Amino acid sequence: MTDLYRLLPPEMDELMATLGQPRYRADQILHALYREFPESLDALRQLPLALRTKLASDGYVLGAASEVRRVTSDDGNTTKLLLRMADGTLIESVLMQYPEAGGHPRSTVCVSTQAGCAMGCVFCATGQMGFERNLKAEEVLAQVIHVARMLRARGEHVTNVVFMGMGEPLANYAETIRAVRLLVDPRGFGLGQRHITISTVGLVHAIDRLAGEDLQVGLAISLHAPDDELRQRLVPTAGPTSVGDLVSAARRYFLATRRRVTFEYALIDGVSDSVETARRLAGLLRGSGTHVNLIPVNPTAGGFGRPSRHRVLEFERVLREGGVNCTVRVEKGSEISAACGQLRTDEANDAITEMELMRVPVAPMRGRRQSLPSPIPSQTR
Ligand code: SF4
Repeated sequence: MTDLYRLLPPEMDELMATLGQPRYRADQILHALYREFPESLDALRQLPLALRTKLASDGYVLGAASEVRRVTSDDGNTTKLLLRMADGTLIESVLMQYPEAGGHPRSTVCVSTQAGCAMGCVFCATGQMGFERNLKAEEVLAQVIHVARMLRARGEHVTNVVFMGMGEPLANYAETIRAVRLLVDPRGFGLGQRHITISTVGLVHAIDRLAGEDLQVGLAISLHAPDDELRQRLVPTAGPTSVGDLVSAARRYFLATRRRVTFEYALIDGVSDSVETARRLAGLLRGSGTHVNLIPVNPTAGGFGRPSRHRVLEFERVLREGGVNCTVRVEKGSEISAACGQLRTDEANDAITEMELMRVPVAPMRGRRQSLPSPIPSQTR
């Protein structure tokens, strides 16, 4: 079985040529897939019945993510989706919306690239689930298409995609890159490359590989510590990669793409939020040309606490005075476990979500995700 959403436009051209179809058939199919978001081959009514029948008999399908659960934050701006893939695998996606004066909201989809995650970051709910499997590119697309379908029903559309959901995107490299190419191809989803951000826990070899892909997607690296000792405690799979290695990798990525790299820094009460830690972080990053995104951690089963507002602002002030460009992440969706480090699909989380469902009104839209975002667990990677 092959999902048509897996095929890059040149591959669709090739398929139609193989089937003896005129070239415009590929454009017809691509237009339908990325503008009409059909849920089955039968819905491709612009194709002759004989071609639809041939595609089905050759094992082509239109995979779709089926929605198991939807929870929307009280302000209606963050929606967490529990989605089931064709084989029953459950993953979470998050839609984060940012109202814009006089126009449609910025609508960012936070996608998962793995079911679970093998990286084991100690503050992350996904990391506590363990690793289940990699997602295919078409399963990443299915998350975006699902939200696009939701948004279209109310006259809106997906404006940004962040690879910050469950899993480490660069540990699923080939499928992540295929998904990005499907999203940015003008004959595909057609999203601007600068509207996509990939978040990584810091796989240096993969960052260098990404820099050579001739893409201009944003890159966020989860740093979380100014020194190797603390980082090893928070990201046990960091291995021999030092914080200096990450700063060097960010520099190489910038030189190759001209895209400024963001370092994600999880602020954990009593662990990584002291003034002294801020000074050491400033010393590490001063002059690197990077940006730091400070993320006060969300409550997860890991038992870590969020620093007080005062400590967060103090940390930010020390970094700024130390010559480092930084911002504090605007919190979205924490009450529905859709914020950084809170995405997970196991039974414990389901129980929590069930309770949330009883108190969180579902928005009248239909229209996706991140237990994440600001999202995502990955955002706290
Ligand atoms: S923060 Fe990201 S890389 Fe770390 S365990 Fe969670 S999902 Fe995996």
